[in-house]
Amino acid sequence: MTFQAPVADITFALKHAAGFADALSEPLYGDLTEDLADAVLAEAGRFASEVLAPLNTVGDRVGATFKDGAVTTPPGWKEAYRAWAEAGWNGLAAPAQWGGQELPHALNAACIEMWNSAAMAFGIGPVLTMGAVDALAAHGTDVLKRDYLHKLVSGEWTGTMQLTEPQAGSDVGALRTKAERDDDGSYRIVGQKIFITYGEHDLTDNIIHMVLARLPDAPPGTKGISLFLVPKFLVNADGSLGPRNDVRAHSIEHKLGIHGSPTCTMVFGDQGGATGYLVGEENRGMTCMFTMMNQARLSVGLQGVAIAERATQQALAYARERKQGRAIGTAPDQSSPVIAHPDVKRMLLTMRALTRAARAICYATAVALDRAQRGGDEEARRQAADRAALLTPIAKAFATDIGSEVASLGVQVHGGMGYIEETGAAQHYRDARIAAIYEGTNGIQAIDLVTRKLRLNGGRTVSAYLDELRQIINAVSEINDPAFGATAVRLTEAIESVERASGWLRAQLDETPAAALAGATPFLRLFANAAGGALLAKEALAATRLTDDGASARIEVARFFAENIAVQAGGLERTVIEGADSVNRAEAALAG
Ligand SMILES: Cc1cc2nc3c(=O)[nH]c(=O)nc-3n(C[C@H](O)[C@H](O)[C@H](O)COP(=O)(O)OP(=O)(O)OC[C@H]3O[C@@H](n4cnc5c(N)ncnc54)[C@H](O)[C@@H]3O)c2cc1C
Repeated sequence: MTFQAPVADITFALKHAAGFADALSEPLYGDLTEDLADAVLAEAGRFASEVLAPLNTVGDRVGATFKDGAVTTPPGWKEAYRAWAEAGWNGLAAPAQWGGQELPHALNAACIEMWNSAAMAFGIGPVLTMGAVDALAAHGTDVLKRDYLHKLVSGEWTGTMQLTEPQAGSDVGALRTKAERDDDGSYRIVGQKIFITYGEHDLTDNIIHMVLARLPDAPPGTKGISLFLVPKFLVNADGSLGPRNDVRAHSIEHKLGIHGSPTCTMVFGDQGGATGYLVGEENRGMTCMFTMMNQARLSVGLQGVAIAERATQQALAYARERKQGRAIGTAPDQSSPVIAHPDVKRMLLTMRALTRAARAICYATAVALDRAQRGGDEEARRQAADRAALLTPIAKAFATDIGSEVASLGVQVHGGMGYIEETGAAQHYRDARIAAIYEGTNGIQAIDLVTRKLRLNGGRTVSAYLDELRQIINAVSEINDPAFGATAVRLTEAIESVERASGWLRAQLDETPAAALAGATPFLRLFANAAGGALLAKEALAATRLTDDGASARIEVARFFAENIAVQAGGLERTVIEGADSVNRAEAALAG
């Protein structure tokens, strides 16, 4: 099925749920006009729908292939990548100094969603290049910036992010790749990395690897990790490509999904050591990597939204066409499209509501990142950075969890045909699964939320955010529109559950940390349900105020979310508080 980027929905959510319209009018973004922002989104939607979306199936069926150390991307990938980079999409939010357009991260976030809806295996590549640009711009030496940034920003070269080794996955501190100082100020890198996305490919002439490695005298764990830039081809003083560096792809993985994205095992130092250049200070590599990670985690969250959107579009189209049985009230000689059955309607509404809630949370995170960078004074920037830090694990984990759930419902709506590859619903289901795993598993995101983010500023970052959500709910109560049903009541209950669970978790962190860790995942879901529900209500309120054509639809989605999804808050709160004990006491259940 063809994909149509939902530009109107994306634009509305960005402006009115995530706060982009307020930021524009402040003006947080200087002379950026609403018209220009609209035009960028419209053009991204066109490119995603017309150029990238048709590549999704061939990307899955042919996939990336490996022969004699070289990776060939699927047919059409190279041409699409060139057109995409030449149109300037890679540098949309990158610094103007290095050839970027320095447009808002929020705008880029909406575009990232569209690239990934169109073809997730294509969309993940640029996410890593953008991460490399961020790390280099923030921590690289002037010489490294001069030699590499222009081409990374233009997309003429791509970037990779290399943390994972066989014994070092979630525990990055266990990595063993070695870096030895050389007399000329560079380093010799020796070791192996696994699961490296676009570690090798034929899209560009050079690939710039951002590699974590350990110096011989480094302290153990994460405090002894340094970041190195390791180009596939060394770069001459005049910018031309020099000899091949001592790094190669050994193989690519056969995966459940995103077949078009090569996942490479990388070998450094067959011939004595790859040349690497230090980024940031020795042993401070994790700090530099974190610069990439907030953006990259948000981008992976956007992949969850993206795949959920595409799966929803496809399921809706099928449910309108496929006739089966008679819905209540249908004439005896007629059969009904399956969308007329309440159970199918429930599935489709769940898909739509979860997708839009996750989108709103991700975009709100992007606006917070913009405020952290561009805010008017130091205090505003600090508060925004804390807000972004709080929302990032929620955006990543919630959006990618619902990505899988929505894609699974998408298969279900198709019945048996959903299980047959031909329809494409199965591909979304397979593709979606990785996003909950890479860029820090969702379990690790939940632990980050509970152990670090709940305690930010002594808990004030969380309470300020909950106050803001409460104001939205008060506005819903005040307009007293029956179309909202029990939205305000259910969302108030959800916020109260978040507050009680937060207080309980904070107390456990000091006394019984295992209980807090056991409750982390249901707590993240509880928080996301409350936040997502409030942001959907905010969007619906804005649509009512602006007498937008889609106002009734937005109210229905907000109400459905509050009454069918946010309403699960009580159960999630109990899972956090009462369920932890049964997790930690259990021994026999998993023995043997
Ligand atoms: C297709 C693909 C592409 C990838 N791309 C890249 C890339 O470009 N660059 C890169 O560096 N890596 C990449 N990765 C690696 C990815 O980031 C890791 O797979 C991921 O971080 C998890 O590590 P792991 O696989 O070792 O799982 P493990 O760390 O072994 O985790 C196994 C399970 O245990 C849980 N767990 C682990 N530790 C804890 C803990 N302390 N507390 C609670 N639960 C825990 C995890 O949540 C998970 O459920 C990619 C992986 C895949 C499959």
